[in-house]
Amino acid sequence: MRLPGNKILRIRGYALAMIFAGMIIMYLGIFFREIPWLMLLFLILGVIPILLSFVVYFWIGMISARAIMVECPNCGGYTKILGTVDYCQHCKEPLTLDKALEGEVFDNDMNVKHRREKIKEELLNKKR
Ligand SMILES: [Zn+2]
Repeated sequence: MRLPGNKILRIRGYALAMIFAGMIIMYLGIFFREIPWLMLLFLILGVIPILLSFVVYFWIGMISARAIMVECPNCGGYTKILGTVDYCQHCKEPLTLDKALEGEVFDNDMNVKHRREKIKEELLNKKR
């Protein structure tokens, strides 16, 4: 399994990967320059992921403006977190905004409200 990382960095990574994918597709089009319609098809297919990645970059800009900046208790660096549960950009320390989840093992279910409530309930039952 892949190590979990900070969400904003992860989305940015996907956007970058899309730009590369688009460039590779457009590059492949060069091999078909004898067949103009096929080369055009590759160019158009290559432009789509690049445009999508621009949309994603724009979207990241908006959400990171709203994201809450917290100081990581582990490395002291500042990191922007998304959702209830996220990871430090620098040391991958799990961070949470929900005091009830502090010190627990994190998983992605905690970002979904009704599942998070269920986890909290289970934690309370364990403590009783
Ligand atoms: Zn950290």
